[in-house]
Amino acid sequence: NLKSGIVGLANVGKSTLFQSITKSSLGNPANFPYATIDPEEARVIVPDERFDWLCEHYKPKSQVPANLTVYDIAGLTRGASTGAGLGNSFLSHIRAVDAIFQVVRCFDDAEIIHVEGDVDPCRDLTIINEELRIKDIEFVEKALESLSKQTRRGGQSLEMKKMKEEEATTAKILEWLKEGNDIRKGNWGPKEVEVINPLFLLTAKPIVYLVNLSERDYIRQKNKYLPKLFEWIKTNSPGDPILPISAQFEERLALMGDEAAAAEECKNLNTKSGLPKVITTMRQALNLASFFTTGADEVRQWTIRKGIKAPAASGVIHTDFEKTFIQVIVYNYNVLREYGDEGAVKSAGKVMTKGKDYVVEDGDILLIKAGA
Ligand code: GDP
Repeated sequence: NLKSGIVGLANVGKSTLFQSITKSSLGNPANFPYATIDPEEARVIVPDERFDWLCEHYKPKSQVPANLTVYDIAGLTRGASTGAGLGNSFLSHIRAVDAIFQVVRCFDDAEIIHVEGDVDPCRDLTIINEELRIKDIEFVEKALESLSKQTRRGGQSLEMKKMKEEEATTAKILEWLKEGNDIRKGNWGPKEVEVINPLFLLTAKPIVYLVNLSERDYIRQKNKYLPKLFEWIKTNSPGDPILPISAQFEERLALMGDEAAAAEECKNLNTKSGLPKVITTMRQALNLASFFTTGADEVRQWTIRKGIKAPAASGVIHTDFEKTFIQVIVYNYNVLREYGDEGAVKSAGKVMTKGKDYVVEDGDILLIKAGA
């Protein structure tokens, strides 16, 4: 199960957003056994129209949607990387997540103190991203030091040769960071990725930027800081998704405690909750895909990394299935929608039987055959 963490300076709206995610009817329909796991951790349902349709179609006894774990990681400040405040422990929490929601304050409110004195989203983004990078530099420097100690012994063994290669790659990573770049923006070869992955670097993690607007700005989709902010992201974090959100509005919707009332309010204001998009965008940023298992007993959405093959996907259902995999019977959700029901898909000859080299596609409906 992949985890994402909400990160940002103090008073930008992180907790408000986190609370509204945990209370939202999107994340926690009353009949669903997911809730806040502890005060800083919540598991939310990934909204998916395909899953909703399949449940409607099969009316199964049990419905199991995909979920995403979200952490509220408080307390990042300027100087966190050098241990200011509780900086270092917060940064280690970030190390434990797979991806980052970075909340940036774009609302004006004299009542809510900004730790840096005034509202300036680009400066805030620069602070956070620099803290993350400084921490990575420190970490990679340590790794390089320890490698250099070992290679100093010299020798021609295969192991030594590999270590020297690793040392060279680590030096290259360090240089990239020192030039002011984030790891996720590098064009790394497979061997380099092997060195990078175990380092769990902060700037390697995918980021989704959440721009926290006042309710009014969110609804009218206008904010004076936005043009500069988009420009900043284009220059400094190109390609990373950026979503406008209003933590305060989401909180207000969540506190209504009633899905119908919240929907009515959205309709009146000619807007909608930004949360489903937040969750689905994160899922894309994590490079995840879904497959489904369907039937009268259960409809379930499973999470896989994009591009994996059928045996690995089977292993998500049950670890044994990966080893004992025989074949998979598969058709895609889109085909099911096109033909209307399973019987029609079969009659049209669109049900495929595939072996262990089959690459599972997003939206595949699978029936796995595995041996004892
Ligand atoms: P955190 O420190 O980043 O977790 O920030 P909080 O979520 O605790 O929010 C700090 C304060 O800002 C709280 O009093 C919130 O009610 C307020 N706040 C959050 N979002 C908004 C917003 O969009 N507009 C306004 N005016 N206040 C907000």
